[in-house]
Amino acid sequence: MDASASEPEDGDVIERIAALYREHGSRPYDGGRRESVTALEHALQCAQLAEWAGAEPSLVAAALLHDIGDFITPTSDTDDNRHELRAQEVLGDGFGPEVLEPIRLHVAAKRYLVATDADYAAKLSPASQLSLSLQGGPMTAEERQRFEDEDFAPQALLLRRWDDAAKTPGKQTPSLDYYLVLLQELREQRRPARRRTVVGALDA
Ligand code: FE
Ligand code: FE
Repeated sequence: MDASASEPEDGDVIERIAALYREHGSRPYDGGRRESVTALEHALQCAQLAEWAGAEPSLVAAALLHDIGDFITPTSDTDDNRHELRAQEVLGDGFGPEVLEPIRLHVAAKRYLVATDADYAAKLSPASQLSLSLQGGPMTAEERQRFEDEDFAPQALLLRRWDDAAKTPGKQTPSLDYYLVLLQELREQRRPARRRTVVGALDA
């Protein structure tokens, strides 16, 4: 009778996220490059900055989850781990493009801002400067045009600013559980559309 009972995968993405933070959240943000906060603190601070800015819940979720790809692929000082793409594997079809796209574009947003905002470039942390060089450095004019054409470029730029600011040692934030509830609510908003698709497929 309970339709949600036949959709166990709906809860699993949240469980997978929680498990990844439990396992890896205490490690230093940006791995061997050692920023001054843990990976979990960085994620929570980024989500909090998004909330304080009045962002949509989907963008708060993207802020929380933007570096989750680092948990499934090692960070190194000599290679780009493409964590913004690996995140898409972790999150799967659990979230819509309003969550996934700003995450996918958050590295590109840094490369865009470095190319367009001298003040931004001057303030990048040493760890971000190192990863920038591995990620391709400042964008060319052609790359900037392609970035501007992305539907979620504005959200990715907002996320990037919060990302760079989310490195304050000892800052108080809501807990991971608080944001897991927000993720669950986003998941529930997506369910009716998915259910209709399944019913339609069975009728066909
Ligand atoms: Fe990142
Ligand atoms: Fe980050």
